[in-house]
Amino acid sequence: MSEANETSVRAEVRAWLEANWNPELGLVEWRNRLIDSGWGVPSWPKAWFGRELPMALEMVVEEEMQRIGAVGVAKTGIRRLAAATLLVHGSDAQKDRFLRRSLTGEDTWCQLFSEPGSGSDLAGAMTRAEFKGNRWVINGQKVWTTSAHHADWGLLLARTDWDKPKHQGLSYFVLDIHQPGVTVQPLRQMNGHASFNQVFFTDAEVPPENLVSEVGRGWAVATTTLMHERRGADGIARWGRASAGVGRVYDEERAETATVMEPYKWYPQRAGRVDLIVQRAQETGKFEDPVVRQEIAKLLCLSKTAEWTARRARAAQMQGRPQGPEGSLGKLISSHVARAAARVHTLISGADAMLSGADGAMGGVIAEILVSVPAGSIAGGTDEIQRNIISERVLGMPKEPRTDNDRPFRDVPKNLVI
Ligand SMILES: Cc1cc2nc3c(=O)[nH]c(=O)nc-3n(C[C@H](O)[C@H](O)[C@H](O)COP(=O)(O)OP(=O)(O)OC[C@H]3O[C@@H](n4cnc5c(N)ncnc54)[C@H](O)[C@@H]3O)c2cc1C
Repeated sequence: MSEANETSVRAEVRAWLEANWNPELGLVEWRNRLIDSGWGVPSWPKAWFGRELPMALEMVVEEEMQRIGAVGVAKTGIRRLAAATLLVHGSDAQKDRFLRRSLTGEDTWCQLFSEPGSGSDLAGAMTRAEFKGNRWVINGQKVWTTSAHHADWGLLLARTDWDKPKHQGLSYFVLDIHQPGVTVQPLRQMNGHASFNQVFFTDAEVPPENLVSEVGRGWAVATTTLMHERRGADGIARWGRASAGVGRVYDEERAETATVMEPYKWYPQRAGRVDLIVQRAQETGKFEDPVVRQEIAKLLCLSKTAEWTARRARAAQMQGRPQGPEGSLGKLISSHVARAAARVHTLISGADAMLSGADGAMGGVIAEILVSVPAGSIAGGTDEIQRNIISERVLGMPKEPRTDNDRPFRDVPKNLVI
């Protein structure tokens, strides 16, 4: 396949899809076929369901899937992060156990990173993992855990050594959410949705084979998850939407969107819905207002620039460059665009923008945009944290002064006596 080029890949995937795509198959059955063919995740290694195609050709495959209307593997949300992380750091046994079922959508995931006292300062996590007898025992609390109420498995960052500096005392686990030691409590947001949870661990258990990488290497593994999360932030506008196709596979995909993907249904609004701006300005007659037109033009320029930055990040990926700080650039720009879009929506809709529910502007979508957009500046690392990363790793500016990185975590001042 090293000699694969766009024409040959397009012809091959098109022939395979024409012979195999059948919208009357069950969703899992179809996705299993796609996975076995290597076209589900064509850039992945051949040993793990892929064809080792460059990322550029993965887009060709996606275009052909869209052309025929074929449903893809389950790649959105935390499932994508779990698969991407295990592909890099997981043992063969972990890949064998988790990758296929994540791609078929049979297993769902959540990301157990943030805690009440450590969000931006993620390396300060205090959830405790102790090896007792023949298993890891977990105690502590996570918060902001998207989809924990739908998840089968959690990507858990926990402290295994309190005497090492904070980044070195962390380990990364795959935790079974459906066990007595795990309590999931949903939280409601200001936009009315309940995507997040608090998750409490009381002597929860993890078998040794679910440690990812080695003890003390959790920070490196978590960094891979975060880089994928930030790089994926520009695709958020597409999440939470189901296709309208006719057939069993589409029915089951819609059911999946309505259940496990339900926490993401406001994500397009979180991205600011730049796509609605012109339509809304025309409907309201504000398109004729020169001040509003000026603001619309500025927004569309900013949004186009963001799209190009995202393309640049994808081009880097295509050239096989590792995940880098351009993920932070893309994430920062996407939250800028979202905020600018919310402002322009307000200019266009005026006080109507504040009406929520079916009677509100665009059936309440505009109000939902205004109360969802702030999430983009927080999720996956805040704007300030992205700026720190960009200033230090891209611009080479001096590092933020720190006093807690090179002494035992036990001795770092914190709001809890250990
Ligand atoms: C939509 C959404 C989904 C999320 N999903 C998940 C999930 O599934 N799993 C999960 O684990 N977490 C999740 N999070 C949590 C998210 O990662 C954290 O909220 C985020 O990292 C910020 O942490 P914090 O809320 O503790 O804020 P804090 O870290 O307390 O930050 C408070 C403020 O201080 C600023 N600040 C902090 N440190 C610095 C610094 N060094 N320099 C400059 N400014 C600083 C921040 O920018 C922010 O403005 C989600 C959050 C959102 C909004």
